[in-house]
Order: sequence, then C-alpha cells, then structure tokens
Amino acid sequence: MVNPSQNSHVITDRLMRSWVRCNRKAWLDRYGNNKSRLWSAHRSLQLDHQQKSFAALIPGKPGKGIAACEKGIDGIIGLRIKGIGPSKEFLEAHPHLLQRIEGESLWGEFAYRPVIARQGRKLTREHRLSLSLVGLLLEQLQKAPVPFGLVVSKVGARLEHQTVSLYTENLQSQIKETLIKITLDLKKSEPPPLISDRRKCSLCSWRGVCNMEAASTGDLSEVSGIGSKRKQILQGLGIDKLEDLATANPIALSNRLQHFGEQHGQIAQQLVSQAKVQHSGCEERINLIPVLPELASAPGILLYDIESDPDARDDFLHGFIRLNRIANGQWDLKGAKYQPILALYEHGEGLCWERLKGKLSFYKDWPVMHYGETEAISLLRLAKMQGLPVKELDVLRNRFIDIHARLRRHWRLPVNSYGLKSVANWAGFQWQQKGVDGARALLWWRQWKGKGKDSRGSTNALKGLLKYNQDDCLATWAVAEWLLKQDELSIKPIPDLMKRDQQNL
Ligand code: SF4
Repeated sequence: MVNPSQNSHVITDRLMRSWVRCNRKAWLDRYGNNKSRLWSAHRSLQLDHQQKSFAALIPGKPGKGIAACEKGIDGIIGLRIKGIGPSKEFLEAHPHLLQRIEGESLWGEFAYRPVIARQGRKLTREHRLSLSLVGLLLEQLQKAPVPFGLVVSKVGARLEHQTVSLYTENLQSQIKETLIKITLDLKKSEPPPLISDRRKCSLCSWRGVCNMEAASTGDLSEVSGIGSKRKQILQGLGIDKLEDLATANPIALSNRLQHFGEQHGQIAQQLVSQAKVQHSGCEERINLIPVLPELASAPGILLYDIESDPDARDDFLHGFIRLNRIANGQWDLKGAKYQPILALYEHGEGLCWERLKGKLSFYKDWPVMHYGETEAISLLRLAKMQGLPVKELDVLRNRFIDIHARLRRHWRLPVNSYGLKSVANWAGFQWQQKGVDGARALLWWRQWKGKGKDSRGSTNALKGLLKYNQDDCLATWAVAEWLLKQDELSIKPIPDLMKRDQQNL
C-alpha cells in the first residue's frame, strides 16, 4: 500500500504511454519497486528503429535543448518541456524529436512540430496521444500553434511518413479524458487490476510481479485459451477465478456461453478441462492414438527453428539440428549437430533457398520437426517463391511435424501457455541463457549485422543468437521426447478403444 500524497503529481509523456498500454503499468511505474522490473530487449529494438527512422528524416546532426530551438536547427532532441494540461494537471514531456517547419514562433520565422517513430504497421492510440501531449506543451513553449504531428517509420530502404492532425475534436477530448483518468488512477493506494489481454504482459517490465499475482490469485487469464473478451464474459456469468471454472459444469456453461456466440459455447468443455488440469497440476491424455507414428521408421530427424524480424518480414536465421537414429533404435542426442543457415540480405533469398534446398535434399527421408506453424509456412512460402514444383512442395509439406499441433491434439498440460518456452520448461528443459527471448535474438542479430558485410558487429552477439536458436531446436526435441516417452508408458494395445478414438478425431 502506498500513500499517493507523498509523490509528485506530474504526469509525464512516458507515464501516459504506460497508462495507455495498461493502467496498472502506470501505477507500478510510479509506485512499484524498481528492483522487481525485468529487462526486455523490446525497448532497445524500439530505440534502434527510432534512431534509424529519425536519421532518414533529418540526415544532419540534430541540435540539443532550448538553445538549438533558438538557433532554428532542423531537428531537436534532448528537450524537456513543462506545462499545464487542460484540467490544470502538471505535465512534462521529453519529445523524441522536433522538426523545424515553416511558421512563426517565439524564436523567429519558423516553428517546430513533434515527430515520433512508429514500430509495427499501424498508427495506434498511443502514437496519437503522445503527439497530442507534446503538441500541447510545445504550443505553450514556442507560443505558436502545433496543428500537426508527424509519424515516421523506416521500412527497409523506405521512410514512411504520416501526418496526424492534433486539433481534431476527438483527439482533444481523448487527451483531456486520459489525463483526468491518469490523475485518478495515480491517487489510488492499490494498483489497478491486471490487464485483461495478458498477451501484452510479455513485453512489460512488470511481468514478473504481475505473473506472480495472477498465479497466486488464480486469475482467469492464467487459463490457456482465455483472452480479454472471454474473461469478461465468464466474469459476467459469476466465474471469477480459475478454481470456479475448474469446478463448473461444462454442459451448463456451454448453454450459457452460447448466448455470446456459438464459438464460446463450443469451447466450454475445453476451457473447463484445461482449468481442471491447471488446478490439479496433473496432465491429461486426450486420446490413445500414438502421437508421433512417423518416427517409428525415420532414419533421423531435422529439428528446425527460425528466428525472424516480424516487422521487416525477414527470416534471418534458419537453425537445424541433425539428430541421428542409432543402432539400438534410440536417438543420438549426444552426437546431434547444430547447423545454422544465416539469411543475409546481400545474398538474397535465392542463395538462402539453394542452401536450404541442399540440406533438405541431403536428408531427404528425414522428417522436419518444429514447434508452431511459423517454420512450415515460411519455408513453404520461400520454396514456392523460388519455383519449387507443386509435387515437390507437397513432398516437403508432408515432411513437417509440428510438435505444438501434436501436443494440443493429444494432451492437456498444467501450463498457462502452450508456447515453446512454457511447455519445454514444464518438461524439464532449461535454456542455457537466462531471460532470452525472440526480441533479444533480434537485437543480437541487428548488433552483429551492423551496417553491412564490411562492418560486422559483435561476435558475442552472433554467438548468443546461435546458442539461443540451438536451444529452441533442443527445446522442441525435449517436448517431442516427452511425448514419445508417454506413448511408451501409456499406450496399451486396446484395439476397440483406439478405433473409437480414431473415429472421434
Ligand atoms: S505485466 Fe501486464 S498487467 Fe502487469 S503492468 Fe505490465 S501489462 Fe499491466
């Protein structure tokens, strides 16, 4: 519990951005224990993209602070602006960049407008409100209107521009309401509840604190398959906690959920079963069909994992582990060999495909095992674009084994997510590097890639990236191995039962 009166009431642009993402985050930013925050590579990626976008917009060196504004330098950074909000709030902003434009201001025959960099493809409420807040303070500082803000984004070699009108009635009332709500939230002595859409938590520095809270209170968002909308519906039906769902009657729940759409009714049984498994902590087998029958005769397996930059739609690393079957029929994990293929921009997709095709042909009878649909989709897309005939595409398609899909078809696990990290950890696998995720891998890639083949960056970054990718392949195998072991332990030759399961699938 905190005493909000002891804290400053200034609302900063950073605090507002946090609040727009999650009301609780803004409260924790102000009153939480900073030692509990977890680092995420996401912010570094954002700053890297911002720096590249701004350099493309204003190639010269930007000026710093108020002195640079007085001189009329084209781009301004390092400025702190204070002012008063529409409801007399104390406000403060550190604009990412101000761009000189035509006009008239306190400083002469020119004025400034705020610029932000957009990561991702869409303009969001957060972008609009950020520009609006800076615009409001800049107007007070330069004694000139700020009717527009600019959003830029470097996509490949292109710089995308988008002008945002700041004086619309809608945006003006949004910023006013937002500032009032932030002030009220920051007066609370307890943090606001967890955000409904917990997917956003994976990028948040408070995820450690909030994950613990969700687990200890049995929050519904802990149940795999429950997003923000379904959580609200269930709460409306009086099902507030994981335990309530685990003990609900699935048929009665299905009937009640039908009113909110057929898809909610159909999934009721599944949600109750998943909640039961998580509540009891015991996994449950859904059917008795062997999970990985094609491995019985496979001479070896290629474990496969891609690292990619989703914003640039760039698969920059294709990692394989070659796993042989040895004479006693077991898998030779000790002799497994990691074989990465880096997809360098300057080599083009054609060369990358040639190398991939070479590997796939060399191990032509081996299944390609991966976790989640991304790998198969990306590789088939590349093969198609590079002109692989339809027949060969079909052969390639049939070689993929998606361990995630097989797991979901045959098992329920006591995990709050069926993502690779969560499932492999549950199966006992440990990544060699702690706290690394896809965003960190992308940051390492950018750090190594540098500005071109003659200025490659840190080799440690490349080593970190390869080790992470290799571990992702091994984690996939850890889950597959667990599935194989369960088949050995639990499948009894009961033909009638198996026949029934097969008919039901
Ligand atoms: S971890 Fe999630 S609930 Fe917690 S502050 Fe961050 S976004 Fe909000």
